[in-house]
Amino acid sequence: MLPEAVMQKAEKEFLNWNNTGMSVMEMSHRSKEYMSVAHLAEADLREVMEIPDNYKVLFLHGGASMQFAGIPLNLTQPDDVVDYFDTGVWSAKAIKEAARYVNVNVVAGGETNPTEISDTSTWRFSPDAKYIHLCSNETITGLAFQEAHLEHIFAQGKTVIADMSSDILSRPIDVSRYGIIYAGAQKNIGPAGLAIMVVRDDLIGLARDITPSLLNWKTYADNESMFNTPATYSWYLAGLVFDWLKTTGGVANIAKVNQRKAQKLYDYIDQSSFYHNSITTEQRSWMNVTFFLKSDALDAVFLDASQKAGLLSLKGHKAFGGMRASIYNAMPEEGVDTLITFLTAFAEQHANES
Ligand SMILES: *Cc1c(COP(=O)(O)O)cnc(C)c1O
Repeated sequence: MLPEAVMQKAEKEFLNWNNTGMSVMEMSHRSKEYMSVAHLAEADLREVMEIPDNYKVLFLHGGASMQFAGIPLNLTQPDDVVDYFDTGVWSAKAIKEAARYVNVNVVAGGETNPTEISDTSTWRFSPDAKYIHLCSNETITGLAFQEAHLEHIFAQGKTVIADMSSDILSRPIDVSRYGIIYAGAQKNIGPAGLAIMVVRDDLIGLARDITPSLLNWKTYADNESMFNTPATYSWYLAGLVFDWLKTTGGVANIAKVNQRKAQKLYDYIDQSSFYHNSITTEQRSWMNVTFFLKSDALDAVFLDASQKAGLLSLKGHKAFGGMRASIYNAMPEEGVDTLITFLTAFAEQHANES
């Protein structure tokens, strides 16, 4: 979901932005009106993420998935080696695509839908890897890297690249420890159609000759992400979300809310004999809380009842099954309270079924 305040602002401005007589959707991306929208969005993102000056912010096409190819094409030659963590569906997709262009060493993982990231003693880095890639939050299972693991990765002294599609802006992070952070917009930023990349200056300009212009980060960096027409309306809405974050206490504040929301839900699930979560405790996502009912024969009944109660999109991803509550930044704490009340009543009603 998107923040209600953002949707209301967009609705108010929909037909006539700032007394221009135009919708943002109708503006030329090169007009001074649109440029002001675009620049403000970037400035607000820089402020809320505390992005250092030696990083560029790129507004990209093709979602996060496009960068699964973009990353090796921009940073490697065919004989190079790169290190990837394989912690779930999204990591595996990134690996599959990268392997078309470069030699991929899998540092850890590789099981189908892992519910845990293994101990650092089992990790196998390659000494000459050009970079280390990870997905900080596996959206489908709700498996996230814990702080101690990230420290171990940073300690390798390599360029660290993180797919943060489903947890960007959910808590404060130190951007300077990453070479690249990238994310599709549609989970925690705004509508689909846009991906955002925060990339350190020295990683731009190294692309292979064959790299399509629209996959070459230098093309975006040299043209303020307007080499061709960007996803203007998605960019504008992302800007409204950054402004909303800024004016509601920033990432530090939303992190407290996010932690509280997730903790409540996990606490409820853990004490219940009707529901369970299978992810290692220290590695549980704050954004995607997955859970299974005591019998999957009840799944359809549960989904029907929850939808009737106004609790939408609880069906788990088909690759993992069960249920998933995606409680991104825009989900208010009351949404989680309502869910817990529903879970409690459903468990009572169906306690004797299997
Ligand atoms: C959703 C998601 C993606 C894919 O994003 P697209 O923008 O659809 O390409 C990639 N990585 C993660 C972690 C995701 O959650």
